[in-house]
Amino acid sequence: MFRDIESILIDTGRIERRVRELGAQIASDLQRDLGGDGSEESHGQLVIIPIMTGAMVFTADLIRQMPLKLSLEVVGVSSYPGKSMESKGASIRSEIPKGIAGKHVLVIDDILDSGQTLEVVTRLIREQRPASVRSCVLLRKPGKAKVGVDATYVGFDIPDEFVVGYGLDYDGYYRNYPAVATLRPEAR
Ligand code: 5GP
Ligand code: MG
Repeated sequence: MFRDIESILIDTGRIERRVRELGAQIASDLQRDLGGDGSEESHGQLVIIPIMTGAMVFTADLIRQMPLKLSLEVVGVSSYPGKSMESKGASIRSEIPKGIAGKHVLVIDDILDSGQTLEVVTRLIREQRPASVRSCVLLRKPGKAKVGVDATYVGFDIPDEFVVGYGLDYDGYYRNYPAVATLRPEAR
């Protein structure tokens, strides 16, 4: 697998530091929404919704940097079926979680590219009348968003290159590569 990697764009140390910062910032913002003192009434009011499968690795690390009482509900979206490296438009592969009305929601994705995925998911979530909706992406390709959507929190802005690792795949592979990297042309 490591043979297929061309170059590392963001190494594990930088990811780790940034995830720690994001976790602290998001937790303090949410704590404020939840009533500041973490009182009993606010418990159970926070729902984290990772967009599968790309957000899996990032989410696992990020939530462990957020010392809040929270629950997880996943949503499945596919935008790069098979060996494609260009988004084919986001299609929802699972139900939007029920029971989020009145709760604070944080949607997590691996990368914001055209913005279609985040736009569709946050729109459907808003239809359930949550108390608030925030979003967090590990990566963003600036200037690419076609739809008027942006993430509340962004880990890193990256150039417009196809990347894999830390949850991001090519044809289903490389999600377990620990850094964010580009692939050798022969591997694609
Ligand atoms: P958008 O809907 O914003 O165009 O695309 C977001 C989705 O496309 C992400 O959830 C991710 O799955 C996929 N994606 C966008 N850019 C890349 C990339 O450079 N590499 C990989 N592996 N997936 C990407
Ligand atoms: Mg995705």
